[in-house]
Amino acid sequence: MLYICVRNFLPMQLSPRLKRFNEPETLKMAKLGRELRGKGIDVIDLSLGEPDFNTPEHIKQAAKKAIDENWSHYPPVAGYPDLREAVCVKLKRDNDLDYKPENIVVSTGAKQSLANAVLATVDAGDEVIIPTPYWVTYSEIVRLGDATPKLIKTCAETKYKLSPQELERNITDKTKLFIFSSPCNPTGTVYTKDELKALADVFEKHPNIFIISDEIYEYINFIGKHESIAQFSQIKDRVIIINGLSKGYAMTGYRLGYIAAQADVAKACEKLQGQFTSGANAVTQRAAITALLSDLRPTKEMVDEFERRRQRVMELLKQIPGVECATPDGAFYIFPIIKSLFGKSDGEMTINNSSDVSMYLLNKAHVSTVAGNAFGDDDCIRISFANSMQNIEKGFARIREALGKLK
Ligand code: PLP
Repeated sequence: MLYICVRNFLPMQLSPRLKRFNEPETLKMAKLGRELRGKGIDVIDLSLGEPDFNTPEHIKQAAKKAIDENWSHYPPVAGYPDLREAVCVKLKRDNDLDYKPENIVVSTGAKQSLANAVLATVDAGDEVIIPTPYWVTYSEIVRLGDATPKLIKTCAETKYKLSPQELERNITDKTKLFIFSSPCNPTGTVYTKDELKALADVFEKHPNIFIISDEIYEYINFIGKHESIAQFSQIKDRVIIINGLSKGYAMTGYRLGYIAAQADVAKACEKLQGQFTSGANAVTQRAAITALLSDLRPTKEMVDEFERRRQRVMELLKQIPGVECATPDGAFYIFPIIKSLFGKSDGEMTINNSSDVSMYLLNKAHVSTVAGNAFGDDDCIRISFANSMQNIEKGFARIREALGKLK
């Protein structure tokens, strides 16, 4: 039971809604790391879900200019028209997709875009198919929306990709929504055009299912061109693209996400957002126009650096016995399988699951990672390479030493 005490110390019960979902494990690890750092301990943060780069200079200049030009009033709920237009330009330029401003809703981060899209589409009794491992927030927002997440496990052998057969097998009369990310957080999985086409063919046979395609890591792709499932015209009307500026432009703190969807869905998201937060930050929206319409060179430079780190991280991982991992094709995480550590102990702490591995590494190696169970896979942990090469080297040396003490 959740209680708070009011003035006269009568316990007041908080909403049962709070018990339906959990605090994001990723944010919890960041908090624990900060606490240790506060005690003067040198913690290396490999739990980070954001680029360790600064926002490119020309985007910062656009934000400063927006302040000076007094973009300080309530913006339209769905976003400034020229920003929604800029999103359409980006979708045509990068993805060859045709959308109009009426299809776009801009929000306070892709997380809010996702919440809007889920709450706009599901209801009590609906099922939502989520290939697992998945980003922590998907299942929790679905629960908040009274629907039931149906987690479909995928495995390392198939690069954590959901096959059309598995998708088909798991669709029922109750299936209302499918949510996935490509590139995927946490596995780095990137679906090819053919693989997306095979999934689209299944969705074509089931016209009552919406598809949320989270493309926030679009630019952080090490294997080639990004493909969106919205390119298949037979299902495009049911696809809700989620994207944003956090990862590709190193703008996490600006908080800017957007959806591209059929106009009715966009209207529904706008209605929800109108009651929750209104329009996204005005200054951020102005800066976002510059980001979306300008050259992607700073993004490419950042991605080149992520690629160098990815290679180094894979080399370092190979030096750690008992831990295996496929090379990620996108995003900035590795998701190694650590189940061979279960049952081992350093004499003080016994490892039984992924949370134990993560806590062991935090307390004994002073390296923060995120337990795989947060992403629906208890055999793994997520290690981010959105940190400097120097910190990666130091972090992996500590991990190797600490894991070497487990017998
Ligand atoms: N989708 C995925 C897969 C993510 O990993 C994240 C952030 O970690 C988000 C969406 C949310 O991004 P934003 O910062 O725009 O809210």
